[in-house]
Amino acid sequence: MAKKKTIRTIPQERTPMREQDPKERARNFAEVACGYRLEDAMREAERCLMCPEEPCIKGCPVNINIPAFIKKITEKNYRGAYDTITDANLLPAICGRVCPQENQCEGRCTVGDTLEPVAIGRLERFIGDMAIAEGWENVPYVEPNRFRVGIVGSGPSGMACAADMAKAGCDVTVYEAFQEAGGVLKYGIPDFRLPNGVIDAEIAKLVKLGIKFKCNTLVGRLFTVEQMVTEMGYDAVFIGVGAGYPSFMGIPGESLNGVLSANELLTRCNLMHARDFPNYDTPIDLGRRVAVIGAGNTAMDALRVSLRMGAEEVHCIYRRSKAEAPARAEEIHHAGEEGVQFHWLTTPVALLDNGKNGVKGMRCQRMELGEPDDSGRRRPVPVPGSEYEFDCDTVVYAIGTNANPIIGQTSKLKLNKWGYIDADENLATSIQGVYAGGDIVTGAATVIQAMGAGRKAASAMKAYLGLRDSEAVYQAESTGSDGKLFGIELSERNHARLRLG
Ligand SMILES: Cc1cc2nc3c(=O)[nH]c(=O)nc-3n(C[C@H](O)[C@H](O)[C@H](O)COP(=O)(O)OP(=O)(O)OC[C@H]3O[C@@H](n4cnc5c(N)ncnc54)[C@H](O)[C@@H]3O)c2cc1C
Ligand code: SF4
Repeated sequence: MAKKKTIRTIPQERTPMREQDPKERARNFAEVACGYRLEDAMREAERCLMCPEEPCIKGCPVNINIPAFIKKITEKNYRGAYDTITDANLLPAICGRVCPQENQCEGRCTVGDTLEPVAIGRLERFIGDMAIAEGWENVPYVEPNRFRVGIVGSGPSGMACAADMAKAGCDVTVYEAFQEAGGVLKYGIPDFRLPNGVIDAEIAKLVKLGIKFKCNTLVGRLFTVEQMVTEMGYDAVFIGVGAGYPSFMGIPGESLNGVLSANELLTRCNLMHARDFPNYDTPIDLGRRVAVIGAGNTAMDALRVSLRMGAEEVHCIYRRSKAEAPARAEEIHHAGEEGVQFHWLTTPVALLDNGKNGVKGMRCQRMELGEPDDSGRRRPVPVPGSEYEFDCDTVVYAIGTNANPIIGQTSKLKLNKWGYIDADENLATSIQGVYAGGDIVTGAATVIQAMGAGRKAASAMKAYLGLRDSEAVYQAESTGSDGKLFGIELSERNHARLRLG
């Protein structure tokens, strides 16, 4: 019998992941973190104590059976590890890269009480990448039904909902406003954190499930949500349009040339190929000095993209201190390593005109921290007489986003006071048969939360359509002694739906 692992017997150091050199990577779009090799993954998997109370699972928004998949890695059953992860999470190669694990599963890991927690995200990515390389997929047996489901938006919430509805036998069509599917994963998160090839590989699996993607289709302009349920004959609709409408500060000079939102900058680089000029005729000229306002993850992406687009100096302007910055610590660290200059406790009060209707700089003011505000963070307070001018050629706003108003303006959906779609605990909206989830309901959140919302809505949509939920179909007593369910291999079961009579 294998000896029980304890905190003293496991490898004490977290297995590092190889990274591109900061100076080199600051000028290219290749991935920063190179991923675990087999030996790295085996060593890190050995650090898991297989805790009976499984706190890490409770920290995962979609409850991946983390100890089970890690155990399968230690047993060299990589395909089994993939099956365990994909029981709960459709997109392991994506979530392994971008989930804020330090606040989720890894934040609850028992090993983290004494040492650095088990690198659960890196192990998930390792298995997700292996699945793509090996061409593994769980395309289950699906019995088609007569239901048609329409999905608006192809981000993680829409993809997750589409997958579950397709696995339930529905005819699913996803409508996407942009020319490519993937939502923020595609147009927002840059390749050096999440390569587009990884997203395309995951989307290809959805296409194999029979899901149809219709891009270049702006719902609310070409047709409305109401038309989808009436004239277009959809039995149920899911809205996962995200919250990509940028916020500005309302200070003088915001309409000058050279002022961009982070989403515009990122979309033009990632999706419109500005970074591939002159191969693509879509250039973007950021000038020599770029200032990005904000210190969240989107700001870090905008800063690091600006460096890679050739800006000589890139500055982060944030009104609170580093301790309050909402970005992941790892992202701030990476940005600093690459040469981003941080101006903590600083806020712009006006953008300055170069006389040709373009930006020549900002008037900034120093701040100090006062009493905590509603968010619990200390409120920034202006320091009197501390204004100064700061030269820059481009100003990028990364201070948050709002709900895109198009769907709200063109349908009778009930919205909350901030313009987000009002949905009940099952994610049903005020229109019968129409469900919503992801950032358009919660406001800006995370990939895994959006995916969880898509799956939750799918479960409610199945109930609404009178479809048996796949989770309920697999009862242990239906499984034969050969481990097969109705003659179907365990690995093929996944979310297949069987008509039981
Ligand atoms: C730059 C950036 C970096 C981020 N980094 C991380 C990270 O590292 N980790 C993390 O967990 N989260 C991150 N997030 C947050 C995360 O990406 C989002 O919470 C998540 O993508 C939300 O998913 P969603 O499905 O609700 O919407 P989205 O991903 O926003 O997708 C919505 C889709 O709907 C489409 N759409 C909108 N309106 C219409 C319409 N009328 N008709 C048809 N289609 C429409 C949009 O074009 C878009 O493709 C980041 C966000 C940004 C902006
Ligand atoms: S809490 Fe950490 S050590 Fe315990 S089972 Fe989960 S990953 Fe393994």
